[in-house]
Amino acid sequence: MNYPFCSDDFSLRPYWWDITPPPQADDSAVSASTDVLVIGSGYTGLHCAVQTARAGRHTTVIDAQDLGWGCSSRNGGQISGEIKPDYAELTRRYGSAEAHALIAEARTALEWLGEFVDQQDIDCDYRRCGRFVAAHSPRQFDMLVANLHRQPPGLEQESHIVEPRDQSSEIDSDYYHGGMVIDRHCSLDPAKYHAELVRLARAAGAELIAHCEATSIERNADGFRVATAGGVIQARDLVIATNGYTGSFAPWQQRRIIPIGSYMLATEPMAPERAAKLMPRDRVFSDTRRIVVYFRRSPDGRSLLFGGRVSVFESDPVKSLPALRQEMLRIFPQLEDVRISHTWMGFVGYTFDTLPHLGRKDGIYYAMGYCGSGICLASYLGNRIGLQLLGHEEGACAFDRPRFQTRPLYSGKPWFLAPSVRYYQLLDRLS
Ligand SMILES: Cc1cc2nc3c(=O)[nH]c(=O)nc-3n(C[C@H](O)[C@H](O)[C@H](O)COP(=O)(O)OP(=O)(O)OC[C@H]3O[C@@H](n4cnc5c(N)ncnc54)[C@H](O)[C@@H]3O)c2cc1C
Repeated sequence: MNYPFCSDDFSLRPYWWDITPPPQADDSAVSASTDVLVIGSGYTGLHCAVQTARAGRHTTVIDAQDLGWGCSSRNGGQISGEIKPDYAELTRRYGSAEAHALIAEARTALEWLGEFVDQQDIDCDYRRCGRFVAAHSPRQFDMLVANLHRQPPGLEQESHIVEPRDQSSEIDSDYYHGGMVIDRHCSLDPAKYHAELVRLARAAGAELIAHCEATSIERNADGFRVATAGGVIQARDLVIATNGYTGSFAPWQQRRIIPIGSYMLATEPMAPERAAKLMPRDRVFSDTRRIVVYFRRSPDGRSLLFGGRVSVFESDPVKSLPALRQEMLRIFPQLEDVRISHTWMGFVGYTFDTLPHLGRKDGIYYAMGYCGSGICLASYLGNRIGLQLLGHEEGACAFDRPRFQTRPLYSGKPWFLAPSVRYYQLLDRLS
């Protein structure tokens, strides 16, 4: 189904897949037994597998779909190393030392990722482009200024305010009221990055099996007996890396992850000068709304890639596309004549405390709950959970917290989302 504003070659596949199709999986049958079985082949699963396979453990990664089919090949490619709760909120909850540790480690993760990409020669259009956080109201602009001036000691980051009168140097739009640039934030091509992780995992000896859904887990004397679409796998160690797609095969984790749809569109390629004019410094963008939008130019500089949470339960991105395009036109009305070439969606994994978590429950390792900022944190926590499994001290992590909350009656279907989103939209309008 096409809308009049869609291009002739309109596609429901992520924009990135035109450049990097889903990587080839191993065509061998799945091994009947393995040292480490990783369920989920996104950034979390592959980073874990790189560690365990390099350490000589027979490592098997399975995915219910193509390799990397989940968020890891369909995201916006904006890298932040930020967690959702701010220092004040974390201090209120856990005290200042823990607040400091959580924020500092997320920031460390961003540096770690940059070094990883560099040292492992990862070809993924990685750029330290900086982020423009756009204020959606004058009040939010004042709050950005205030927050910049009261950064917690030891957690200051290089950033500067852009006054509303200077905003055109960052964005060709009157929608916003100034903003703030965070210099360290980066961008990459998510599917290229994922394909490179596949290359590293395979080079380390991991076996990578697609279309092999895990359906149940049973503990036994030798570890875990996992029923999958490809047959039963006996694994000494088991890692759950399914994040926003965690299903009933892992009920404890499913009760702790809130899947929330995130939707994206790509415009058809524009003349390079026209696309460059939209965001002259070619940064990544997000805004101060609670129901956030995010956008950037494609690595070739010619398309706008625009995302947001425009629906609650909808998994058909075609139905959400008019609302998403409307959001884009509110910011860039000059794009009315530019057609849409792609739209797609995926489920990010939120948590009740809006923090990512990793750890071990009933002997099963897990890392998940990146709350929409998983390029950096899924990579880092995937690496850490692999190190924990190997018994290395470097696996210690501030996000390995004793309490991973759920709610009474919650079993993985977030019935409370629609009213919450409407409430937050109202707050956004009021502010
Ligand atoms: C539209 C969109 C835009 C985003 N933009 C950004 C962004 O700009 N910046 C950012 O930092 N983050 C972004 N994210 C979030 C980020 O992509 C994720 O946090 C990250 O990729 C999570 O990686 P993961 O490996 O944990 O999970 P995923 O990549 O989602 O992988 C989980 C995998 O588990 C598999 N699976 C599920 N159940 C089973 C089973 N039973 N058996 C076998 N396999 C199973 C799935 O098929 C899936 O491939 C975005 C997400 C979406 C959807």
